[in-house]
Amino acid sequence: MEEMLRATLASYEEDLVAFTKALIAIPTENPPGLAYHACVDLLTQKLAEIGLDYTLLEVPAPTASSPSSGDPGYCLLSSYGTGEDILYFHGHYDVVPAVDPAQFQPYVQGGKLFGRGSSDMKSGLAAMIGAIQAIKDSGITLRGKIGLTIVPDEETGGQRGSHYLAEHGLLGRQGIGMLTAEPTGGVVWNANRGAISLRVRVKGKPAHVGLHYQGVNAFEQMVTVANALLDYKCQITTEPILIWFLQTVPLPWIVASILRKTSQLRSRAYWSCSTGLSNRGSTSQWRFFKRLLPQVSAQRTRLLRRSRAPSSR
Ligand SMILES: [Zn+2]
Repeated sequence: MEEMLRATLASYEEDLVAFTKALIAIPTENPPGLAYHACVDLLTQKLAEIGLDYTLLEVPAPTASSPSSGDPGYCLLSSYGTGEDILYFHGHYDVVPAVDPAQFQPYVQGGKLFGRGSSDMKSGLAAMIGAIQAIKDSGITLRGKIGLTIVPDEETGGQRGSHYLAEHGLLGRQGIGMLTAEPTGGVVWNANRGAISLRVRVKGKPAHVGLHYQGVNAFEQMVTVANALLDYKCQITTEPILIWFLQTVPLPWIVASILRKTSQLRSRAYWSCSTGLSNRGSTSQWRFFKRLLPQVSAQRTRLLRRSRAPSSR
């Protein structure tokens, strides 16, 4: 089956490159969210060409105070196969603003395609659509469906895209998994990044500098929290990701390429103390932002419990 799919995909190469180039040439810069209509026109045309039904949802523009354009966004939903379970292919067609308009003139050099969005993620959209087309053209029967979800606004929080779909119960329905063709280092990962955002306020007890032993220094108590977070960082950056096999998809080379990886997470912590440390100091505040993987979300609760100093309650 793999051989057959590979051969089918190889026969699409020229067409897929041309399609990706055409997508890149549409300047869907976000913010503010331009040329969305032109882009979904091309995407729907492609889906119609390969015989896939689709639903196009027009999403109203955000409020005037938003940095987004006043134009609507468009979510494109399609699927292939039958059955209850759905493996989602999910991607976005907006790109971060170009440095130079010439970035919207795609070109191939040394076997690589260049242009704004060639990596993130118009080539991914073309690849996912091409994969569905290959499965369809090869006559493969799936145990379930592939759901295709293509959205705008990913670069700015998903307001006219995933956020809208989630709010309306249209994101990930009956889903057993989701594959996104976001750029990585060229490997298939079995998880996605998430984030912890914390705003921690630790209360102290003010006291005169001469009677400091009668007070509780909020900053010192916050160090307890900070140390727990640093321990946690150390723990998750050395933790292997669980291997999770995608058993319902007839793409064995994808399964084979899911490798055990050690997470390489970037972390940034912002520290701010709202007050001084002597007789005026009664609180210490801390803001924390960390990208992390899904399996650590349960650990977050334990971490917070552990780091709660008695005086912060
Ligand atoms: Zn992206």
